[in-house]
Amino acid sequence: MTQGEFQVELDEDEAVKALAEQTPRPVITIAIGLMAISMFAAIGGVVIANILNGTATERDPILAIALLLNIALILIGWRHHKEVTRELASHSEAAKRARALASRDPLTGFYNRRALNREIQGALAKADQRQRAVALFVIDLDSFKFINDLNGHHIGDLLLKSVASRIADAMPNSAINARLGGDEFATAFEFDLNDPSEVDDVAEMLIERLSQPFAVEDQTVQTSASLGISRSDGQVESVETLLRRADIAMYAAKKQGKNRAVWFDGSMERILETRNRIETGIRNGLPNGEFVPYYEKQIDMLTGQLRGFEVLARWEHPTRGTIMPDEFISVAEECGLITELSETVMRQAFLEAREWDSSLTLSINISPAQLKDTWLAQKIIKLLTETNFPPHRLEIEITETALFDNMGVAQAIISSLKNQGVKIALDDFGTGYSSLSHLRALPFDRIKIDRSFISSINEDGESEAIVDAITRLGESLNLPITAEGVENDKIERRLKKIGPMHGQGWYFGEPMPIGEARELLAGMDLLGSMTPEERAEQALRDLQKLRRSA
Ligand code: C2E
Ligand code: CA
Ligand code: CA
Repeated sequence: MTQGEFQVELDEDEAVKALAEQTPRPVITIAIGLMAISMFAAIGGVVIANILNGTATERDPILAIALLLNIALILIGWRHHKEVTRELASHSEAAKRARALASRDPLTGFYNRRALNREIQGALAKADQRQRAVALFVIDLDSFKFINDLNGHHIGDLLLKSVASRIADAMPNSAINARLGGDEFATAFEFDLNDPSEVDDVAEMLIERLSQPFAVEDQTVQTSASLGISRSDGQVESVETLLRRADIAMYAAKKQGKNRAVWFDGSMERILETRNRIETGIRNGLPNGEFVPYYEKQIDMLTGQLRGFEVLARWEHPTRGTIMPDEFISVAEECGLITELSETVMRQAFLEAREWDSSLTLSINISPAQLKDTWLAQKIIKLLTETNFPPHRLEIEITETALFDNMGVAQAIISSLKNQGVKIALDDFGTGYSSLSHLRALPFDRIKIDRSFISSINEDGESEAIVDAITRLGESLNLPITAEGVENDKIERRLKKIGPMHGQGWYFGEPMPIGEARELLAGMDLLGSMTPEERAEQALRDLQKLRRSA
């Protein structure tokens, strides 16, 4: 069986019960034996006494035959008894085997999940009596899926076996080792309540050993593990709670950069609850139209002219008010809702901005998870067509990290979008690799300098040097620059001295809702020529068109 298949577990209780039903009953044999022996004693006593006293009667030969038959019966009974005993022994051996099969993971020989529950239950009770505690590790390999995809399931299976044996070697002899499924393991052991550093030592050793290369057949495979730790403390009631906590801590270890051990603490549970609440909120809020675009001005700092807007998502929550993207974008990414969220924000922004002066552009943020979607370019182009927004007025903002994590797909997406006339900006530049070769490898139209350098440009010499260097880089590659985070006129003056560039930030205006953006543009005579009635009619026509095409 491979790790890819589901494990069909034999139900332990049922297996043992079935075997017991087939087991011959020794009670019957014993009863026959006892009857025969008591008959032998009764008949034999009379016949032998009569023979010895010389008072044998005519009936005694019959009784003697009965006696002989009785002896035969005892012998048969004895043989049967021996057979039954032998059979019983082999049945209990089979029952033992069935029990082992039902509680073990066939690949690694470790306990399976159900057996782990039972074993930990026992360990908790024992530890409690001895006033000690139980530590539970949940261990997950960091790159198993990748190794499996690259080298095949056979190598994957062998790796899992080697991982199991390294775990068994590193853990104390009394540890309860289990495979929870896939590349997830658990192990529990008792420790001194007052000395949890013992647990840290074991965890550290385990992490270290699992990060050493594995020789699998003729290949060397490198992986690492993330480990979550929970402990019993007299208050943890159930094994499920211990397991859930270790699991939460394991995910925290992954989030903190993998290849490490992290203890569970109460705040993690609260974070998880908040995260789940946000996920439910997004699911409910999407169909209710709670996610809307805000617009942040982008200014040509040389001329002071408005060039366009960066579109930033906001969640207009019915009870909590406006929620910022830091709270919901990463959750939407994790739970696979980012595409839908991004599409609804883009659609609203395109429908609005197509009526604006044709010189105004829109910049849209694309997150790392979206860049893994091979259909992303098609989805954006479809939206542009449906809303009738000109592709040359759209700029897509992608961060360096997101790009180079998904280089192959990203390249294809970028070239499809560029073919349609969409522009591509490299967002948050300076915070990631800041690689020149990367910059050259992809056909960017603009570099955006991260706001952390801009907002500190007047206080921090290093920031100033970085902004200066990026500006020179842009000049030599013929890539225009946008500075983010222009918070005051001092920053603006400083940037103007460095060179011509676009700027955005609180100094020019904070991100604003549609209504405010409209007012602003109306005041600048950039709203387009339609009257409010004409705009409403147009919107209605679009809606009907969309309904027909859906
Ligand atoms: P970002 O792309 O770097 O966006 C710029 C952020 O800087 C925005 O935060 C903006 O409000 C903020 N900002 C603008 N001017 C200033 C300033 O002068 N000083 C300071 N301190 N901050 C300023 P926001 O709107 O909270 O967005 C945060 C991040 O969320 C964005 O960072 C972007 O990565 C992401 N995001 C926002 N909307 C979307 C969206 O529709 N889709 C995706 N995928 N990501 C989005
Ligand atoms: Ca951005
Ligand atoms: Ca940015």
